[in-house]
Amino acid sequence: MARMIFIQPPPQLENQYHDDRVLRSYLHRALPDDVRAEIELQLAGMGERAGADLYVQQLAERNVEPRLIQWDAWGNRVDRIEVTPLWREAERIAAEDGLIAIPYERSHGAYSRIHQFALVYLFTPSTDLYSCPLAMTDGAAAALHASGNAALIEHAVPRLTARDPAIFWTSGQWMTEASGGSDVGTSLTVARQEQGTWKLYGRKWFTSAIASQMALTLARPEGNPPGGRGLALFYVETRDAEGRLNSIAVNRLKDKLGTRKVPTAELELNGAPAQLVCGPSDGVKNIAPMLNVTRTWNSVSAVALMRRGLALARDYARRRVAFGAALADKPLHLDTLAGLQAEFEAAFHFTFFVVELLGRAEAGQASAQQADLLRMVTPIAKLTTGRQVVAVLSEVVESFGGAGYVEDTGLPMLLRDAQVLPIWEGTTNVLSLDTLRAIDGARGLELLEREARYIMQGVRHPDLVRISARVEQTLEAARLWFVERSQNAASLEAGARRFALTLGRAIALALLSRQAQWSLDHERDERPLAAARRFAASGTNLLADLDATDARMLARDSAA
Ligand SMILES: Cc1cc2nc3c(=O)[nH]c(=O)nc-3n(C[C@H](O)[C@H](O)[C@H](O)COP(=O)(O)OP(=O)(O)OC[C@H]3O[C@@H](n4cnc5c(N)ncnc54)[C@H](O)[C@@H]3O)c2cc1C
Repeated sequence: MARMIFIQPPPQLENQYHDDRVLRSYLHRALPDDVRAEIELQLAGMGERAGADLYVQQLAERNVEPRLIQWDAWGNRVDRIEVTPLWREAERIAAEDGLIAIPYERSHGAYSRIHQFALVYLFTPSTDLYSCPLAMTDGAAAALHASGNAALIEHAVPRLTARDPAIFWTSGQWMTEASGGSDVGTSLTVARQEQGTWKLYGRKWFTSAIASQMALTLARPEGNPPGGRGLALFYVETRDAEGRLNSIAVNRLKDKLGTRKVPTAELELNGAPAQLVCGPSDGVKNIAPMLNVTRTWNSVSAVALMRRGLALARDYARRRVAFGAALADKPLHLDTLAGLQAEFEAAFHFTFFVVELLGRAEAGQASAQQADLLRMVTPIAKLTTGRQVVAVLSEVVESFGGAGYVEDTGLPMLLRDAQVLPIWEGTTNVLSLDTLRAIDGARGLELLEREARYIMQGVRHPDLVRISARVEQTLEAARLWFVERSQNAASLEAGARRFALTLGRAIALALLSRQAQWSLDHERDERPLAAARRFAASGTNLLADLDATDARMLARDSAA
């Protein structure tokens, strides 16, 4: 008798634009029809590639990793980095599709950032975090523009924003040193003037874009005081005309939990020639425009990875049978996926709200209040979506059972890659403290409350009206919590993460509610309403009155 062998059909991806209800519905609401019509073909093309050839190549290259070649055959130190074939292809697509160029060409005015990030969102999950060097490239172009350094703007920005792959440059952002990534003011790299040229000496501990042609970095001009203000922002070109590294040695590539295709290096700067971008101090302040952009890329990457995990999990649920029925027909499995979908939809609308504000600010169309709002919501969205993506992808892995834990399904990689998103560009805690600075007292919180009321002013469905009251109560409770603790710095700091996440979840819920009402009115689609109900039920107010002394006792727990 023939043996029966069961082969499980794997999950499949469709065109990732056509298949994405949330993105399409959002673009329908947020963009004028003519803008949407102009960009739709490009989005559909990117969605097709992301669900087909790029995804196939990504799975096929699962075990291919970047290599550092330190020596050539004749004993010359070369420190060459070979990136993966998918990364080379991603670079070409990024240039040709204008993933950096679009917001600088600004063909669609304030909507250009929505156009760019909709493409980035489709591109990211199938290109092994090539979005990392792109984020820094976009951030560098923004920081150079903000610096007003005409010579550097003229020299570097046309390369960073080029559509021709032969001209296109990417940029690194070298901040973190072994002494501090969050506390970057402890940096030990020094800058010396030698024969009229600045030369940098020091060690950069995490540099993810060493294959890039340039970098923006921090160093302390000799004689400057310690701390962040004593650092200056420098522009470095990594290689000379012959392609040799400019007095830079790559000590090694990091052996990392995830982002394995990103060549993150430890560098030694042995007198690397550099140019001052702004003045000889205040480097941390001057690099801030770069960080605002890279943090927005981080939020977009988080929603993109959540969406990829859900697309695969939903498809698999239709193909996998257990106890006589497809998982897609099991109420409890559906309930689990629904919770993840609600987190994703809330994160999506929050992220694209930041994107919209950024686009408006860059087009000179943001009011002073919208500029303040952008400063506040950028770190809040980054930290909120960074936590969400890890939680969602952990559940996505579980939703595949044992297959989710097996490397050649490509699923574990999603979770490992996601885990970097709450760490780089500012950890959750560090951005929570940044949120306290950004809100600038109760005034900032009142602005957030006003904005939330404005966002939700059109909701009429009774459930959404109830939810909007909940959002208002949560934001008011957050303001009272903040005012109460303003006199007690330690208590305010101890609660900063729960405070920032409360703000993040409340704003995300407001935005999801607005979309839900719009979808009811224009698409007769109740799914965003269902997502809003779920997200509201999962809790927004995390400000339980927890005691800092308890925290100290628990954190220092030991056998003694
Ligand atoms: C894959 C990868 C790639 C990277 N690429 C780059 C790159 O290209 N360029 C670059 O410059 N950096 C890069 N980084 C570095 C990254 O930005 C830093 O690791 C990050 O900012 C944290 O800094 P740290 O490692 O020094 O951690 P620390 O600052 O030592 O933080 C340790 C812990 O302490 C917490 N903490 C710190 N300060 C406080 C505080 N005041 N209150 C409460 N908690 C606090 C943090 O939240 C964290 O949990 C990369 C990191 C990774 C993992």
